[in-house]
Amino acid sequence: MRIIFGTGNKNKLREIREIMAGLDYEIVTAADAGIDSDPEENGESFEENALIKARAVFENSDRTSIVMADDSGLCIDYLGGEKGELGIHSARFMGHDTSYEKKNAAVLERMRDVPDRDRTARFVCAVATILPSGREITVRESMEGCIAHEISGANGFGYDPIFFLPEFGMTSADISPESKNLISHRGKALRHMRAVLSEAGI
Ligand code: IMP
Repeated sequence: MRIIFGTGNKNKLREIREIMAGLDYEIVTAADAGIDSDPEENGESFEENALIKARAVFENSDRTSIVMADDSGLCIDYLGGEKGELGIHSARFMGHDTSYEKKNAAVLERMRDVPDRDRTARFVCAVATILPSGREITVRESMEGCIAHEISGANGFGYDPIFFLPEFGMTSADISPESKNLISHRGKALRHMRAVLSEAGI
């Protein structure tokens, strides 16, 4: 079965391919499938935005493939959580074209005097699937941690260098990609979706 994944983010796609490796799915991007889609992500939740992205692809697909899309972000309790400065706005924080070096430095600056107990945060990922029949399914998973005091690590992408995992004593950019995929919001959400699809015989 072919899955058309509605993302143009190469880092996410690398993780998605790693997480879905070894399964009987061929994963192609919307662009690979000749579908041009860049909808406005104006939903009020991760699920809504994942569905907006998936529907934009589904409407232009030939309806023989499964369509999937994800929406994710970093929810920092001190900065308003899911609907705060980052949260569902994580990609747009300080503008799409601002480097993550600058975004991460700005988050650390906003959190400069915040004590450890108030630095709690989580990465959230919602995955939306639309089956050829038009049936829609969403799942959501998260990875708990807190905001580091300094940037660290060269793996991962985006906000990983400032996301501290207490159980590892390092950031999600310090741990290996394999370890991240095992515990990450995206890894858990994709495995959850796989389980739902397999229960439905798909
Ligand atoms: P999306 O492409 O609209 O889902 O936006 C995701 C946003 O959250 C981007 O700003 C990413 O950098 C950030 N993000 C999501 N997942 C991760 C992750 O696993 N590591 C680091 N940043 C992430």
